[in-house]
Amino acid sequence: MVQNFKTWGISILALVALLAACSSPQKTVTTIVQIPNTGPTQAAPSATPVVTETAQAATLTPGGASAKLTGTQAPAAPACSTPAALTPAVTEGPFFKAGSPERSSLLDSGVTGQKLVLTGYVLTADCKPVAHALVDFWQANAQGQYDNAGYSLRGHQFTDANGRYQLETIVPGLYPGRTEHIHVKVQAPNGPVLTTQLFFPGVQDNSQDGIFNQALLVQVLSSDSSSMQAAYNFVVR
Ligand code: FE
Repeated sequence: MVQNFKTWGISILALVALLAACSSPQKTVTTIVQIPNTGPTQAAPSATPVVTETAQAATLTPGGASAKLTGTQAPAAPACSTPAALTPAVTEGPFFKAGSPERSSLLDSGVTGQKLVLTGYVLTADCKPVAHALVDFWQANAQGQYDNAGYSLRGHQFTDANGRYQLETIVPGLYPGRTEHIHVKVQAPNGPVLTTQLFFPGVQDNSQDGIFNQALLVQVLSSDSSSMQAAYNFVVR
């Protein structure tokens, strides 16, 4: 008797399962696509010590540095939300020289110091990358001296079709009255010239420098005693 009930039970369950399989609509198989993380920037793991500038890294405000990193290299795409704040202008200072050579590396022989690779985008306030924007850099050497006779540590370049630039240089040295900074002029095609300076987070002299501006801090992606990778996006008219 008990055996009969068991057999009936199994048969009924099998029938119900068969009916359910036949009557239910065919399920669509959905491939789950991983959405790239566009949240706060995370520096890729690195074998070298990583300097994390927490305040800057967590604040991806346009005008500050921002990046979606694909490695220790440059941001693959700008993180930007409209309306983006324009990059502040600051004083040109006394050491600008027109006519700098077109080049993306300022690492001439004889230039020593902590190597810096600075990358980023030139964007409009509505977050559109600006292709062929002029980006003209000049800076002091590791001893805090400008080359006013020649063009050492001076050079201009143009953003690529995606609005991106990359500069190879060194972290500038200090000179009296100033914190570490790199001068730069940025100009979209047919746009006005933005003259400004970039600063480095965690430098003690930042707080003593009247020109220093928090919105002009680069984002340090990685750093050790010999090299640094950093990013900054310019937002221009
Ligand atoms: Fe200067």
